[in-house]
Amino acid sequence: MDIYCPVCGEPWEMDSLHDVPGTNYATARKRFAREGCALFETSHNDPPDSETAMRSGVLFDLLGDDIDGIASLMAE
Ligand SMILES: [Zn+2]
Repeated sequence: MDIYCPVCGEPWEMDSLHDVPGTNYATARKRFAREGCALFETSHNDPPDSETAMRSGVLFDLLGDDIDGIASLMAE
């Protein structure tokens, strides 16, 4: 399942949070909620998919640590 950058709406495989160098999963998850793509040292999409980004940001705010919940709601 995918999670989406809260800045530009870029989709990322949920499991990529396990592969961020120099950080653990919990920290990667928290950072992704704020930084999105920047966590993976890539730039944000330009132009952004604002609607997807906004939706993802809201879900990260509401569900926080429940990344599975966030991903499944985004898939609907
Ligand atoms: Zn992004």
